[in-house]
Amino acid sequence: MSLKCSTCGKKVISEENFVQFNCPSCGKENIVRCHACKVLSRHYICKNCGFEGP
Ligand SMILES: [Zn+2]
Ligand SMILES: [Zn+2]
Repeated sequence: MSLKCSTCGKKVISEENFVQFNCPSCGKENIVRCHACKVLSRHYICKNCGFEGP
């Protein structure tokens, strides 16, 4: 299982402060965000439906 940040592609498996949640639009894709992208409020794009969110 390899968790990568949906925004920057960095592996978050070794990080403590990352979040993961289902896409708020389609609910199917698992969105992962590393701590840096969360703090900087970088946008992510759902690979399944293309939803873009903060
Ligand atoms: Zn990131
Ligand atoms: Zn989606």
